[in-house]
Amino acid sequence: MAEIRLEHLTKHFGDVKAVEDLSLIAEHGSFLALLGPSGCGKTTTMNMISGLERPTAGEVYFDETAIKELEPGQRNVGFVFQNYAIFTHMTVYDNLAFGLRVRKPRPPSDEIDRQVRKVAESVGLAGALDRRVTRLSVNDLQKVALGRSMIVEPAIFLLDEPFSNLDAAFRAYMRAELKRIQHEIGQTMVYVTHDQVEAMSMADKIAVMNLGQLQQYGTPDELYNLPANRFVANFIGSVLNNFLPVTFERQNGTAVIRPPGGEARPIDVTDRAAAIHGRPAAGGLTASIRPERVRIVSPDSPEATVRAKVVLVEPLGARDIVHADYQDTDIRAIASPGDRPRIGDSLGLVFDPAAVHVFDDETGLALR
Ligand code: ATP
Repeated sequence: MAEIRLEHLTKHFGDVKAVEDLSLIAEHGSFLALLGPSGCGKTTTMNMISGLERPTAGEVYFDETAIKELEPGQRNVGFVFQNYAIFTHMTVYDNLAFGLRVRKPRPPSDEIDRQVRKVAESVGLAGALDRRVTRLSVNDLQKVALGRSMIVEPAIFLLDEPFSNLDAAFRAYMRAELKRIQHEIGQTMVYVTHDQVEAMSMADKIAVMNLGQLQQYGTPDELYNLPANRFVANFIGSVLNNFLPVTFERQNGTAVIRPPGGEARPIDVTDRAAAIHGRPAAGGLTASIRPERVRIVSPDSPEATVRAKVVLVEPLGARDIVHADYQDTDIRAIASPGDRPRIGDSLGLVFDPAAVHVFDDETGLALR
């Protein structure tokens, strides 16, 4: 178990700035997710932690030890990759035992046996130890890969999109399993994914990256409730976030933002007036409000921030995603199936000021 500290970590491939000045700390025994779209620099960051890539600048520390100069084999890290490295001619037992059998000095056989059975139990392979891995399902192969890495008890556990080959139901199961295993063994884990649901459901802290740059580092709740910028506000959340252009006005002692169109009710942002008024650029402003926080009321309610017309309803079982058109902007709101509106209905939509974030169009930064 170790703390991982990245200090000004940078990697350039010629002109490509794969990772730029990345600094963060993953605490002992915590679960860190590196999250972002394809090409944002997640795998390169992971490879600099494992030793497969050398940084152009900056340093990686495991506790107080700088490890940039150490070979991968000297770093005591365990890997699970998407294309799991498994010995297909061996049984599950031999695959699990491998990492201990090659250790110098080699542990006694009964100790290896005890460890193999413990790990097999932990990942759900206790009944499959004698099976040849060629006869296993993709799902069980992934458990073998996880078990092989666990058994050598690395100080740090690195997982690069390990579940992307699995079917959706098993992926959800393995997410919960991995979180349980991590809690049980208490190892520091770094998990690379482009799937925000995976990151949100498992990680203690998430580093959101884009184009090699760290966008925000925080807990799932912080990213969801207090996005640092528009990229994070857009990337996090299982239903696409709503964005609307707004204008800012001061009105004797209070400050408001106003969606386009004369009929919209102003939204009170007095608590952020200084940040909005004092923003560096003279560009426009965009407000966001999550679909889960948009409240549906009757179209003639005085509470309604805007009135919009339903254009689409997506029933998801426990809830519906309602799409409503306001001034050619698609606004998504959540309704319970008992209150399902019909296409063409007029709705009032309430934007609670506490749930509204305001972003500077020029910098993308949240103003608060
Ligand atoms: P993905 O999810 O697609 O794997 P990623 O977020 O892991 O993406 P990286 O693989 O770290 O991103 O790549 C970051 C950037 O660096 C990309 O623009 C990629 O093309 C570039 N890159 C990565 N490895 C190399 C390399 N060996 N040589 C040149 N460019 C590279």
